[in-house]
Amino acid sequence: MIFLDLLFPPKTTCIICKTAIKTGYLCDKCKSTLKFIEGNRCNICGKPIDYEGTCLDCLEHGHEFKQNISPFEYDGVVKDLIGRFKYFKERELAPFFADYMADAVKKMDWPIDVIVPVPLHKIRLDERGYNQSELLARELSYRLNIFMSKALRRVRNTITQTALHKEERIENVKGAFKVTYKDTIVGKNALLVDDVLTTGATLDECAKVLKENGAKDVYVVTIATGKNM
Ligand SMILES: [Zn+2]
Ligand SMILES: [Zn+2]
Repeated sequence: MIFLDLLFPPKTTCIICKTAIKTGYLCDKCKSTLKFIEGNRCNICGKPIDYEGTCLDCLEHGHEFKQNISPFEYDGVVKDLIGRFKYFKERELAPFFADYMADAVKKMDWPIDVIVPVPLHKIRLDERGYNQSELLARELSYRLNIFMSKALRRVRNTITQTALHKEERIENVKGAFKVTYKDTIVGKNALLVDDVLTTGATLDECAKVLKENGAKDVYVVTIATGKNM
């Protein structure tokens, strides 16, 4: 074993437990703790459900986007990693998440023409230094070989959605987005990219604005979602 390690020294460390590994992002042990959405999922919002078909929330309220797919449940290790990606400047996590997101999108076989990241307002962007959704969108663009357009602009700096209820979230993001580079989305099917799908209020508002400006269907990919979010 030691001899082999001398011949083929580990090149990197696991992003969770920091054990030396030869390739990739996670050691096998940490990889086995990732929680994928594997059973039934809502055929609109992609949240895990206990039966086949559409969740009650989507049946009642519907969405502006056609479908969302999230490879992971928003829980445990994945939740921690998303926190590190968003708030602790670990932008190198983008390719890790994008590998799983790209695979999930490929399986859906959607007719996507253009990839659009959910934008941050300039003030938030200056604070954080990067837009996490744009990093994911760029990685997805490479992997899916589909053009990325920064077709949305956040014109109002909304307060964070975290503490708000569903109705408040919808109000909070109303009128927050505008389309730029309209040519890149007119007549096109768009794939919106964001980190987490909670109520979907932000993604609905983005999808609505894209469609009002001539986009055809809007699909969504996010890293994670969960039950009762
Ligand atoms: Zn590990
Ligand atoms: Zn649903």
